[in-house]
Amino acid sequence: MYGKFQQHLAAELASIEQAGLYKNERIICSPQGAEITLADGSKALNFCANNYLGLSDNPRLIEAAKRAMDARGYGMSSVRFICGTQDLHKQLEQAVAAYFHTEDAILYAACFDANGGVFEPLFTAEDAIISDALNHASIIDGVRLCKAVRYRYANADMADLERCLQQAQAQRFRIIVTDGVFSMDGNVAPVDKICDLAEKYDALVMVDESHSAGVVGRTGRGVAEQFDCYGRIDIHTGTLGKSFGGAVGGFTTGRKEIIDMLRQRSRPYLFSNSLPPMIAAAGIELFKMLEESNELHTRQQENVLYFRERMLAAGFDIKPTQSAICAVMLYDAPLSQRFAAAMARRGIFVTGFYYPVVPKGEARIRVQISAAHTHDQLDRAIAAFIEVGHELGVLK
Ligand SMILES: *Cc1c(COP(=O)(O)O)cnc(C)c1O
Repeated sequence: MYGKFQQHLAAELASIEQAGLYKNERIICSPQGAEITLADGSKALNFCANNYLGLSDNPRLIEAAKRAMDARGYGMSSVRFICGTQDLHKQLEQAVAAYFHTEDAILYAACFDANGGVFEPLFTAEDAIISDALNHASIIDGVRLCKAVRYRYANADMADLERCLQQAQAQRFRIIVTDGVFSMDGNVAPVDKICDLAEKYDALVMVDESHSAGVVGRTGRGVAEQFDCYGRIDIHTGTLGKSFGGAVGGFTTGRKEIIDMLRQRSRPYLFSNSLPPMIAAAGIELFKMLEESNELHTRQQENVLYFRERMLAAGFDIKPTQSAICAVMLYDAPLSQRFAAAMARRGIFVTGFYYPVVPKGEARIRVQISAAHTHDQLDRAIAAFIEVGHELGVLK
């Protein structure tokens, strides 16, 4: 039976490879961090993790996880509502809600699940979901699972959003959905303007804070803090897998009745295992740390500025970022791959992106800056950028 299907898959895989889109894994043999050790023992500086606050190997989080594993065991072997809820899960939900200044929160195994399980329980074919064209794949999939009428507006384009809102007056309820920070350009969604339009056209607002939480806003509390939109965003989703320690887990936080309904009807919550106690405990410790000090956020912001200023001075073309993501524009797809490979040979890991991940003719190197990077490490990356930039004719 497998014969024909095997040939089909082999041909598909070959065409992925030919298009230069085949994804290979880098094998790391050390903790995640600013500097990582590879399988061959060599070291590399890491500028492509979502480790924005440098917490992936944080001793306090490791200790909290170990303590919880000793006290509470390894796993829950249950979904939340049958026998998979510990006091730790409830405490973490409260900590998430306190951090975002919301009424309640619900945990998921990942933000992919949070987004997959947020629309279908709340909206029907009578309603409208109005989604930014550059929203994350998990939002797109979540919307697909729901029967609501779909509208799509151009990235952060408020005139286009307004057009969608006008059309969506035909539906019963409307929700505008956006990423807080878009992962390819590093731009922040204009959430204040989105909230204005939501009020004008009677719509709810949902923001996915995966790349914005811990980064955007005066103390890193995301877009509501950045735009002073507290009380105007109905739903935030987010991940524990980026700024917040980088392990695993997601959440939806917002209005009480919305979270209540998700606990009743959200399928990834009802039919998937609880987070392990160690993850919940480390999450509680994480929010305690962020409450105590803003030092990591401040350092991360300073590092972004430091990197950007020196790269611009060297003559690179960088998208105006408002986050920890710096897009170094090269425009040419093969060049972006040669550039990333030349950087890797110098022990600097950055990612080259090109169509279809970004629009045609907008190939780039994405650099993700962390609080964990030292100035010396940033300097080494900048020096490598300049060297490769000259070698490949990007810099004159
Ligand atoms: C990373 C990311 C997710 C997925 O988060 P996981 O917890 O890893 O599943 C969802 N949405 C956005 C915008 C993301 O960047």
